[in-house]
Amino acid sequence: MPGLILVIEDEPGIVDFLERGLRAQGFDVISATDGTAGAAAAVNHDVELVVLDLMLPGKSGLDVLAGLRDAKPGLPVIVLTALGEVEHRVAGLDAGAVDYLTKPFSLTELAARIRAQLRAASHAPRTTLSAGDIEVNLISREVRRAGELVRLSTTEFELLSYLMHNRGHVLSREQILRAVWGYEYDPGTNVVDVYIGYLRRKLRRHGTTAPIVTVRSVGYRLDAST
Ligand code: CA
Repeated sequence: MPGLILVIEDEPGIVDFLERGLRAQGFDVISATDGTAGAAAAVNHDVELVVLDLMLPGKSGLDVLAGLRDAKPGLPVIVLTALGEVEHRVAGLDAGAVDYLTKPFSLTELAARIRAQLRAASHAPRTTLSAGDIEVNLISREVRRAGELVRLSTTEFELLSYLMHNRGHVLSREQILRAVWGYEYDPGTNVVDVYIGYLRRKLRRHGTTAPIVTVRSVGYRLDAST
């Protein structure tokens, strides 16, 4: 079950080497060859780890890193540095990078670091939830869709978090009431439907609807495929 790795690197030879090598190790790999495209790919895809070169055209690796810390704080990043980029190492550490690898490096070494990071990330207490391009930060309570901040009320936030914790599963109105509102409600209340409506409206984006599916006469489900 290895995850999707995003490689952000501008040297075609290294991109090719990384893509082929990591695929041979069983990872799914996508790549971007400049900082701007890389930052967008990290936000728009369900990536589990980023391999990031520091010297990039467009947006620098450090800018990409700073952006990722805001948009996807739990996402592990392995930074590739050239020998002698010591000052970059320090600046990168401040931006919260998780690991470093100095070029030239062996693919075996990189794959081992990736596995270690993915293992650590899977054991870390969850601070973020994601479903497709929706990202919920459980600590700062920020919600983003495709990187854009979505402002939610407290109840809307609790409702979205509950749906995301249970993504792919059908939840009845009663289950949602108990989990989000926390006490016995009049079973005839339509408060769940009303709040689902608020959430859908706020999460709508350029013709894209929110991935909240109505399951007739049962309740709702957050679509896991988005
Ligand atoms: Ca480079």
